[in-house]
Amino acid sequence: MSNHVNRRNFLKLSATAGAVLALAPAGVQARENDMKKKMPERTLGKRTGIKLPVLSMGVMRADNQSVVKAAYNSGILMFDTANGYQNGKNEEMLGEFFADKPRESFILATKVKENPADDAAEKFLEKFETSMKRLKMPYVDILYLHALDKVDSVNYPPVLEAMLKLKKDGRVKYIGVSTHSNEPAVIQAAVDNGNYDVILTAYNYTQGHLDELNPAIDRAAKAGLGVVAMKTMAGGYLDKDRTQKVNTRAALKWALQNPNIHTAIPGFTSFNQLEESLDSALNLKMTKDEKKYLSMADHSLYCRGCRSCETQCSKHLPIPEMMRAYMYNYGYKSPALAKEVIDELSLAGNVCDCAACKVKCVAGFQVAQKVQDITRLQYVPQEFLV
Ligand code: SF4
Ligand code: SF4
Repeated sequence: MSNHVNRRNFLKLSATAGAVLALAPAGVQARENDMKKKMPERTLGKRTGIKLPVLSMGVMRADNQSVVKAAYNSGILMFDTANGYQNGKNEEMLGEFFADKPRESFILATKVKENPADDAAEKFLEKFETSMKRLKMPYVDILYLHALDKVDSVNYPPVLEAMLKLKKDGRVKYIGVSTHSNEPAVIQAAVDNGNYDVILTAYNYTQGHLDELNPAIDRAAKAGLGVVAMKTMAGGYLDKDRTQKVNTRAALKWALQNPNIHTAIPGFTSFNQLEESLDSALNLKMTKDEKKYLSMADHSLYCRGCRSCETQCSKHLPIPEMMRAYMYNYGYKSPALAKEVIDELSLAGNVCDCAACKVKCVAGFQVAQKVQDITRLQYVPQEFLV
């Protein structure tokens, strides 16, 4: 594959491009031309050498193929999904969409979780093959180990060997890790390991450990790894009732001010959100109001993943994961995704009901209240949720 996938050439070749563009609103269509002229590009680390726009698409919650089409025809090259998203429907949707597209006209990243066990490699490969069947592709560009928060998971031999074999066999072009908790240590471990090509990390203006995270990202970029940012919108809302929206333009621009963030994958689900992200990426210069917003905003639904609450909790509940589920449920309005996270925690019997909660959250969350709210999801059958 050429390191620089040239969509302009692709669009010239594609007889259907015009018809597809007709489905997108005028604003998105207008930006398709702007983007090809001005969209900043960066190299996804020396190890991949891939040049791509600073804006990519997090497909996680998207269920409207027309939005994927609009993103594709706007010049976005990289599309990010995972084995677990929407119980596999997310990968299936991308498989259908890309079935008639030239394989070199897009970059596809997916993620598979590892579960340490005697048959960890077999289980991991089983899930990978399921993903490939859904995606209907001969290879994926990037395969991430999904949602790591421990150094040992980065270096877990059976799964690492399985990934390297997939890479050697050409089923996977590059391997990486994704992390939204304990990110600095996970990123450093991926750099030290020497086998990984890309990291996908949570990165946003609300994180309380940027003094550790920024140097870790710098070291990864210097070592030649590609760095992709997720959770750039910090949950999308400042409150549970979604009355105060995060300034998503400011949030995305903030993340992309760091030249070592090679691309970001905001999870747009509508034409409006796509248009707003395109607008922000086309002009990364912050307005006065955006700068002011960033200097004043200090709370959102985003848990910083510092884990300082876990040792304070008398029941040692996995609070950061619960807060992530809370953000998915109330910020993203995606209860099915939130339930996936809650179900993986196997909370049965571990009830948050102490007479007095002593947990103090660095982000100012009322932790017990949020834990109690979100754990109700464990009793809701998945089939009731969208
Ligand atoms: S009330 Fe909940 S969050 Fe607080 S200490 Fe008890 S179990 Fe932990
Ligand atoms: S809930 Fe608060 S203390 Fe716990 S990890 Fe998140 S930000 Fe840190």
